[in-house]
Amino acid sequence: PGLGVMGEKPAAATTKHLSLGSMASGLREVYESGRTKDMEWRQSQLRGLISLLTDKEEEIFDVLHEDLGKHRGESFRDELGILVKSVKYTLQNLKKWAAPEKAINSCSLLLQHLLHHAHHSAEAPLVAFPATAMVVPEPLGVVLIFSCWNFPLGLALEPLSGALAAGNAVVLKPSELAPSTAAFLAANIPKYLDSRAVKVVLGGPNVGEELMEHRWDKLLFTGSERVGRIIMTKAAKHLTPVALELGSKCPCIVDWLDGKRDRQVAVNRIIGAKWSTCAGQACIAIDHILVEENFAPILIELMKSTLKRFMAKPGGMARILNEKHFQRLSAYLEDTKVAASVVHGGCIDPKTLTIEPTILLNPPVDSDVMTEEIFGPILPIITVKKIEDSIAFLKPKPKPLAIYAFTTNESLKRRIVEETSSGSVTFNDAVVQYALESVPFGGVGHSGFGQYHGKYSFELFSNKKAVFRRSFLIEFMFRYPPWDDSKIGT
Ligand code: NAD
Repeated sequence: PGLGVMGEKPAAATTKHLSLGSMASGLREVYESGRTKDMEWRQSQLRGLISLLTDKEEEIFDVLHEDLGKHRGESFRDELGILVKSVKYTLQNLKKWAAPEKAINSCSLLLQHLLHHAHHSAEAPLVAFPATAMVVPEPLGVVLIFSCWNFPLGLALEPLSGALAAGNAVVLKPSELAPSTAAFLAANIPKYLDSRAVKVVLGGPNVGEELMEHRWDKLLFTGSERVGRIIMTKAAKHLTPVALELGSKCPCIVDWLDGKRDRQVAVNRIIGAKWSTCAGQACIAIDHILVEENFAPILIELMKSTLKRFMAKPGGMARILNEKHFQRLSAYLEDTKVAASVVHGGCIDPKTLTIEPTILLNPPVDSDVMTEEIFGPILPIITVKKIEDSIAFLKPKPKPLAIYAFTTNESLKRRIVEETSSGSVTFNDAVVQYALESVPFGGVGHSGFGQYHGKYSFELFSNKKAVFRRSFLIEFMFRYPPWDDSKIGT
């Protein structure tokens, strides 16, 4: 008890069911007691998270290396460092976010009516005078978070911090595919956070499905579209509201860049956002590049020489998660037309599950590598006649999590923002938008829905309650029957 850590062992179904069920009802009791709503409690949980991250830095580097072969530099940049910054930001701003927000007040209402001689104001009808209205954020209750294996720390603790900041009790189910990080979270979260209100449940799809048998007040799922559909279907049974953080093919438009320096900066950032971000196993990694025909050879040469420098020492790239993903990625290269398009890399080693940073030039657009989310160290480059044609290329495709464009052309930038749809657009960089607390992170269309990070996490896990206050002071009788036409438009 307290830990709430379950295994995937096939214990008698009823026992398991009961234990998850009693955990859920125990959490509900804790929530109903009001414990988690308290501002001090919320702040103490956020401080606990910061302590966990700072005290256990070395252990965190170790588990991320065990699970994914991430170098500590990469782990710090993409998970630990971002998390500490984000939780501190939440702690600093929490009181402001949690404060009731005034929506209307009597004085402004009256003034509006007097000034405009209006019968109906945008804020409230005259019959509502005098009145005040507030938007009061309240926690949702007991929330469930499913995280993914590629950023097994960040994708677990980033939403967890938002859920706690909003005053909820939480169940976190880390991905079983990053077992060292999952075990680390299960062992340490109860030591640093309130173990009566925060539980870590270990296990895979079976445990996930069992969790879905229960009612939650909110669910945030990070993972594949396939499982996202299962989750949403099961959530419907209890009307559990869901936020789905799914995947997509994030395109990167690279315009003809004139200056040598700009080209080099662009290539550094492209390599950083592909191969040095969990070996391309990131939902917002660059999936493929769109570039003008004449610029493609220049870009490829610069990518090759830069890759050589960036990957000069071992540890420059994380490893492929497992055999299944290695097979999936290798299969892309088995397609003869795709294999013929390799212009860099292409070597695979089944023994070490490694795939060299690989660049493809114009693989068939109907090949699997161009129709599925790649999620690995293979980067197709597709050429277009004019860079503006890339917009027409992207428009019919499912809406991605992110669109990237390296360009100084303001009209192209404007067209991308206005004519395409995606969770985010980043110009002249890639992936780093994840680290911004001030903008929402999430998908649109098939890349998911529900946005988080910073204040958006707080809002995702809160109910914005409308609180309307009236007084007995003034009463307008025209709002009641008996009706006659003089009451219309009064
Ligand atoms: P997945 O969808 O297989 O698993 C995700 C989580 O769901 C895990 O915790 C897993 O245990 C659980 N799960 C699996 N089957 C389940 C079931 N039937 N019922 C309940 N729970 C179940 O994850 P994956 O395919 O390995 O992850 C990769 C995908 O995740 C990619 O598409 C990637 O783009 C996406 N992703 C998205 C984001 C984002 O923030 N949008 C971040 C990381 C990864």
